[in-house]
Amino acid sequence: MTLGGPCVLKFLTCLTTEHDLRLVLVAGLVCIAGCFTTFRLYSRMRGARGVVRAAWLLLTGLVAGSSVWATHFIAMVAYTPGLKTGYSPTGTLLSLMIAALFMASGFAVASAQRSTTNDFAGGVLLGLGVAAMHYTGMSAFVTQGHLVWEHATVGLSAILGVAGATSALVIGGNARTVKQQAMGGSLLCLGIVALHFTGMSAITIIPDAGVAVPEQLLSGFVLTLAVGSITGMIILGGLGAVAIESQTSRSALERIRRLANAAYEGLVVVQSGKINDANAAFCELVGAELPELVGRPLTGVLTFDDKTNDREGVRREGKIQPFAGREIPVEVFSRLMDDGARVETSGLTVLAVRDLRERRAAEEKIRYLAEHDGLTGLPNRNSLQARLAAAVERVEASGESLSVICIDLDHFKEANDQHGHVAGDLILVETARRLQSAIQAPSFAARLGGDEFIVVQVAGGDQPTAAAELSGRLIEMLSVPVNYEGQELALGSSLGVSLFPDDGRTAEALMANADMALYRAKESGRGVYRFFKREMDDSIRERRNLARDLRQGIADDELVVHYQPLARAADGEVCGFEALVRWKHPTRGMIPPLEFIPVAEENGLIGPLGDWVLRRACADAATWEKPLRIAVNLSPIQLHNPALPSLVHEVLITSGLSPARLELEITESALFKDYQRALDNLRRLKALGVRIAMDDFGTGFSSLSTLQSFPFDKIKIDKSFVENIHRHDRATVIVRAVLGLGRSLEIPVVAEGVETQEQIVFLRGENCTELQGYAIGRPTPVDSLEAWTMASAQPSAAVLGAEVEQTQDQAQIQGKRSA
Ligand code: C2E
Ligand code: CA
Ligand code: CA
Repeated sequence: MTLGGPCVLKFLTCLTTEHDLRLVLVAGLVCIAGCFTTFRLYSRMRGARGVVRAAWLLLTGLVAGSSVWATHFIAMVAYTPGLKTGYSPTGTLLSLMIAALFMASGFAVASAQRSTTNDFAGGVLLGLGVAAMHYTGMSAFVTQGHLVWEHATVGLSAILGVAGATSALVIGGNARTVKQQAMGGSLLCLGIVALHFTGMSAITIIPDAGVAVPEQLLSGFVLTLAVGSITGMIILGGLGAVAIESQTSRSALERIRRLANAAYEGLVVVQSGKINDANAAFCELVGAELPELVGRPLTGVLTFDDKTNDREGVRREGKIQPFAGREIPVEVFSRLMDDGARVETSGLTVLAVRDLRERRAAEEKIRYLAEHDGLTGLPNRNSLQARLAAAVERVEASGESLSVICIDLDHFKEANDQHGHVAGDLILVETARRLQSAIQAPSFAARLGGDEFIVVQVAGGDQPTAAAELSGRLIEMLSVPVNYEGQELALGSSLGVSLFPDDGRTAEALMANADMALYRAKESGRGVYRFFKREMDDSIRERRNLARDLRQGIADDELVVHYQPLARAADGEVCGFEALVRWKHPTRGMIPPLEFIPVAEENGLIGPLGDWVLRRACADAATWEKPLRIAVNLSPIQLHNPALPSLVHEVLITSGLSPARLELEITESALFKDYQRALDNLRRLKALGVRIAMDDFGTGFSSLSTLQSFPFDKIKIDKSFVENIHRHDRATVIVRAVLGLGRSLEIPVVAEGVETQEQIVFLRGENCTELQGYAIGRPTPVDSLEAWTMASAQPSAAVLGAEVEQTQDQAQIQGKRSA
């Protein structure tokens, strides 16, 4: 009952002068307790689905509605305008129903979807509900007078109620913790209280004794007690329901955990990529305790082999990376977690992880048995085809050589018949062992069945030499008798060889042709090997003869060293010679080194041959009047011999040649086989004062790093580039580049194979240091060097622009080569 003035003031006067403040307090307490319970229930409801959700919603609406209503009712009892008051029971009851209905629908709208819009709309509904309840309740209020409403204040009260309810839902709508729920409850409560008392201050009562006020059955105090305790019970009931329910779900969780831990499979629960929970089996797989795992990204311990297929329910394979130890192959099924009633767990994925180690081992074992021969353990016929095809693919890419060697034991059947199967088995096992000891991966041996074996040779060396060498070795190894119960069982073997790609490009063709060759080997009396193509046999025989002749030739002094001059490009002065070996074969005549050096290298003759050339060259050079340099070529095999430095040292001492005059030429490829050892040798040679030249530069890898790894004293540009100067742009560019490289590394560069005046002019123009080639002088016997080695010798005519003469020896070799 007010006389105007600002609303706030009216509100305060209305509250303090016309209300029993003790009852106001009770109303407030009911309101706060009710609103808090409402939010507890609401939050629980959001976690449920279906009928359970509907039941929770109903309970929420009931608690909220009755709380709002009780607040209003008790506050009305507290209202004492000084006149007789009463309530019509229908209106009062109607207002309770309205409250519950609005509350339930407000919460239903707010929770329909997780969005602020929904919270907002729900809040508006709640606020309007409070207003509707309030004013319906007021219409049931009768007093001795007429109520006059101040409409602006009524509007304000509704706004305050809506504001309180909306902010309660927007802020506390997604509350999970009790604190958040209390926050939401308080805001709602604030809205209710504000609405109520603002609404009350909008009333002005004009007394009229004529208005009949219904008699109240109960006194205000008893009414308050009744309403308060009923509402209290409803509120308590709501709270109790939440408490009981969460207790049951806790024990259900406990049961689930025990069940999960009993599972043999690893189970891990993942939320947004992070581990949320895991069972004992999973922890054991990873080798960690659960607390160490929780919160970690799953990818830290589990990776999938294929990255694409992560649909639910699809089987995927992957690997567990344990905290310690080797990774474990696993299969994984994933599933979105759904326990029916709760949706707040969604977004969780459960992965079932099964250890595949045992299965893999079993599969491995089965595969092994399927692909290997039970007796010898060698790959069997089944797997040979695939292995051979893989080897062919490999050499096609790598440029290595490949041969297929078919092996048949001679007289195996007789041994088997005579000594029994046990002896036969023993022979086969021993054969397999010997074959395997003779080769290295990627070469491999296989058993075709019976006494037939196959060796597939993948080699770095040239064919047919490499296959011939291995075949010869195999025949020798297999001819060693096998000891069986004190008896020596002597067997032999016949071999047939086919070569890739000449005798076939496919596994089938290579095997068929090796078999044909084997047939020829058996025909020609066993104990031998035969190539598929007869020419190969001939060329092998040829090479074998050459090797035998060379061995004899070295002993018989058939080798000679010729010397080819090197001139300074600037002034044409001859500054040294390169020693080039030749072989005067008694029947075949002069043989060039390119034909017999490889044979010497294959047959272990390069050592003695190289020693001899070094000795000869140093001894010859020591006799020259001028202290010219002498260059000697080293084979890669010599370079890898640890005894090389001491040999060079000894030769220098015995010949009396100054170390500074000796130059050793090596090719880049000579360094590659055993880089460290080669480099060690080079360093020790250099320490003796000997110079080291890089020969044939441009033909190998020509890598800058080789030049950097060792301080070479000279680079020799290969003659294949020099001969193409002005003929091919590429060659010209390469020569220029090598000369530039030499200049920047401060290493002198020699051009080899210089034959024309044009080349000389070009090389001089490009600041090449030295020249070597027919234009300067051909390799000649030692006794025709005087023109250069005598103290009075003149500079090379060619470099100075004169015509070139030819010595007779080189014409001879030249003729042979072109023949
Ligand atoms: P290399 O070290 O590159 O030797 C240069 C080769 O080029 C020699 O062939 C030489 O006669 C030839 N040559 C020189 N000037 C010209 C020219 O103007 N035009 C043409 N077309 N060729 C020219 P040769 O003597 O047949 O030697 C061939 C290879 O044999 C040598 O190549 C070297 O790698 C090797 N060799 C020669 N003697 C020995 C030796 O005592 N020990 C070792 N390990 N290898 C040697
Ligand atoms: Ca050389
Ligand atoms: Ca060379």
